[in-house]
Amino acid sequence: MKNISADIVVIGGGVNGASITYNLSKLGAGKVILLEKSFLASGATGRSGAMIREHYLHPTLAKMAKESKYIFNNFSEYIGGDSEFKQTGRILVFGEKDYDSVKLNVEMNRDLGIDISIISKKEVLELIPNINLDDIAISVWEPGCGYADPVATTYSFAKRAKDYGAEIFINTPAVDLIIENQRITGVKTDKGVIKTNTVINAAGAWGNLVGGFADELLPMNPLRVQMLYLRRPPSLDDLSIVVVDGLTNNYFREDNKKYTLIGGESIEDLQEIVDPNNFKLNIDHNKIIKFWNAIGKRIPDFKGAICKGGYSSLYDMTPDGNPILDKSDKVLGLYFAIGFSGHGFKLSPVVGKMMSEYVLNGYSNNHDINQFRLNRFKEDDMLEADYPYTDRGHP
Ligand SMILES: Cc1cc2nc3c(=O)[nH]c(=O)nc-3n(C[C@H](O)[C@H](O)[C@H](O)COP(=O)(O)OP(=O)(O)OC[C@H]3O[C@@H](n4cnc5c(N)ncnc54)[C@H](O)[C@@H]3O)c2cc1C
Repeated sequence: MKNISADIVVIGGGVNGASITYNLSKLGAGKVILLEKSFLASGATGRSGAMIREHYLHPTLAKMAKESKYIFNNFSEYIGGDSEFKQTGRILVFGEKDYDSVKLNVEMNRDLGIDISIISKKEVLELIPNINLDDIAISVWEPGCGYADPVATTYSFAKRAKDYGAEIFINTPAVDLIIENQRITGVKTDKGVIKTNTVINAAGAWGNLVGGFADELLPMNPLRVQMLYLRRPPSLDDLSIVVVDGLTNNYFREDNKKYTLIGGESIEDLQEIVDPNNFKLNIDHNKIIKFWNAIGKRIPDFKGAICKGGYSSLYDMTPDGNPILDKSDKVLGLYFAIGFSGHGFKLSPVVGKMMSEYVLNGYSNNHDINQFRLNRFKEDDMLEADYPYTDRGHP
């Protein structure tokens, strides 16, 4: 790598870095380079649950999720390539404490044109006959939801970015930012320097290691989160619907036909701050038991499942659980798209558009990017739900 220059360098080849690179290239941003320290989707993206939903508790996020889902539904025409989106539908079940909030949030979503409704216990049982609803006060059905393949999605964005002229360097970490007179003038990689005036930090849970090159540390912590992997018993062979259990704050979805992935998003599940370069990749024994008990309580047949292990990965968690999409006040030409806090896969098609428009024009056309500004934390104006659900560590 000698005498390279670029109009824009994106650091981080996860789904968001790839989507931003694609959108910038498509909008004619000039020469765009994507740098990835190992390989594409090797961060949170590759281990994502990759569930796609529209139900959000804040209208800004619900509108973004709605547009993203439209793109996932029409991925090959809209982006090109395949995201392998599978529409399974999604059921959310809640206890008495969340009854009013659920009603208000569903009403807000429906006002935005989202296909979501409150359904009776009888209707839930028609969708999942073996589910235990004894402690459930209210249930929600989102028929259009499902999950995609996060690796296929990232590679599709990357391929289309290349079609529009982007260059992608894998196994090429950014090791420093070159700053002169408080302005970005280049990126140092382990293979040489790229001259540029614009850098987008899309390094996920590594975001503060990259930000640290410019002394620009953001309110974000890398959190270790865990996923359990079960082979369902034959009585549950047909269970493909995504389920969110608002009482245990566990969620689960089908994987590879007869397998189920189970994650946890209670406040207790989102506490383990780690070094993103040195964390345990396995699932802990106590989480296997906790998640297995939770799913076995909701669908008792899961007690007869086969445990196939599990894994850990990282959330890049901000104080309000929402990303930071902004530019630095300290260093001209430095932008951030980090802090996706465990829900950045589904938003990636729209985040790519929003960030590209912001970098090129200073605003985003269809969504209020200002709500994701860094200063919201200092201004005590966080992006929070009016009617949050109880004991949930996640928006
Ligand atoms: C277990 C789990 C389940 C999830 N489930 C869902 C879900 O169901 N739905 C949903 O919407 N979201 C989900 N998420 C969240 C979602 O996966 C992430 O928000 C999203 O993938 C983040 O993408 P990203 O591109 O911002 O970051 P990442 O995928 O982490 O990518 C950042 C990249 O930057 C690279 N990098 C870091 N430092 C450097 C450097 N110095 N130079 C070059 N490259 C660098 C890393 O190697 C990495 O590949 C889940 C996350 C996890 C962990």
